[in-house]
Amino acid sequence: MILHRPEEECGIFGIFNHAEASNLTYLGLYALQHRGQEACGIVSSDGKTLFSHKDMGLVADVFGNQETFKKLPGTAAIGHVRYSTTGSSVIKNTQPIMVEYSRGAIAVAHNGNIVNAQLIRAELEAYGSIFQTSMDTEIIVHLLATARNESLVERISRALERIEGAYCLLFLTESRMIAARDPNGFRPLCLGRQGSSYVVASESCALDLIEAEFIREIEPGELIVIDKNGMTSYFPWKKIAPTPCIFEFVYFARPDSYIFGKNVYMVRKEMGRQLAREHGVEADIVIAVPDSGVPAAMGYAEEAGIPFELGLIRNHYVGRTFIEPQQSIRHFGVKIKLNPVRDILKGKRVVIIDDSIVRGTTSRKIVKMVRNAGASEIHMRISSPPTSYPCYYGIDTPNRKELISASHTIDEIRKYITADSLGYLSQHGLLKSVGMDNTPYCTACFAGDYPICFPNMGADPQMDLFDKELQNDRS
Ligand code: AMP
Repeated sequence: MILHRPEEECGIFGIFNHAEASNLTYLGLYALQHRGQEACGIVSSDGKTLFSHKDMGLVADVFGNQETFKKLPGTAAIGHVRYSTTGSSVIKNTQPIMVEYSRGAIAVAHNGNIVNAQLIRAELEAYGSIFQTSMDTEIIVHLLATARNESLVERISRALERIEGAYCLLFLTESRMIAARDPNGFRPLCLGRQGSSYVVASESCALDLIEAEFIREIEPGELIVIDKNGMTSYFPWKKIAPTPCIFEFVYFARPDSYIFGKNVYMVRKEMGRQLAREHGVEADIVIAVPDSGVPAAMGYAEEAGIPFELGLIRNHYVGRTFIEPQQSIRHFGVKIKLNPVRDILKGKRVVIIDDSIVRGTTSRKIVKMVRNAGASEIHMRISSPPTSYPCYYGIDTPNRKELISASHTIDEIRKYITADSLGYLSQHGLLKSVGMDNTPYCTACFAGDYPICFPNMGADPQMDLFDKELQNDRS
């Protein structure tokens, strides 16, 4: 069986009861582009039929042509942006997934990762289900189709009862839009209103763009049905203590968004302040690795009383999925994305702030670049703890053996990246910056304390089940 490794970094958006539903979904996806650049899609409903358009590529490329919207009529629509790093990213794996079954048509868009997908899929296949994609999301559709319950809400509740892991879901039928967030609430999902239309989005920045009012976040374990009669909320599953993903604050979400009750920018800035308290150093300037390190660098600079400068300039037209042109000019690497401002860096003791070190390759290249630009000392500061464990709940992290901090001490990492000093924010400092409240965030990528079991958990720390499957895929 070929299944993707967990890699569903995605964004979802939906709107119900609006004359320009697919156009606004396009804009919503545009605002969520940072959550996935590989592929995107929209499914709309005119009350009788569902219509779909999806393709590989950025939102502006797939939906840039106004003619496309003529093929997406109706007053309700859901959309999806997808990010994938595996080789098996193909057009059939784009979302929303749309199917016709005995009770009509239904489309689903998913952000997150289902950890027991392989088990359920094997079971469904043994009973004759035929899968069209290798996405874990497809099992939800099959569970829905095979559920015996009369009402759609019941069928969705029962289907999702079997699912373990992270999911924010948007369903669209001919007459209803349904949103669901898993009981752990790993990924963010919010609810808004624009006039008489309801809007659901992964992040509030998508509501801002279409001038929708933020109503509230969809709660962990909540299922919301929106139809012509308005909105109804259900809590069909057993309540558990939620564990929202702290890495959304560290890296993934946009700084202008409000997630898990907080503004991402303010949290990142506080992480920077805390980092300065924990790892202060004599220096002349603080610079950020743009864009992810900027708010933390501003916080660090403020707290340390050291000027913040734009020492590295980013080319904003390079996507995350940029493919380097050819072998002979590969060594340009990070220079394609970032260029140092020599007059700022020359002869200076520089603090560089980034949000995380994964494999260590980016930091190594950046330190070299800043050193070549004339910096006299380089002090690398990271606004999160060492990323030592892979994520199974929807953030794309490599397997454990590729995570540099899984097998190296901080001083070994410092040597590898060739910095004069290296300091990571402590886990306590990170939680403090997030303003812990009563929310026990998921910190599995830093601490290995996985809130939900996944196949083969703990069996072989160097090579997990998904990695083995990936190798099989490639062979
Ligand atoms: P690396 O070169 O593997 O150490 O990557 C570190 C860089 O990747 C940092 O600048 C981070 O901002 C960025 N980063 C961290 N997590 C992710 C992720 N899940 N997807 C893409 N980029 C990431």
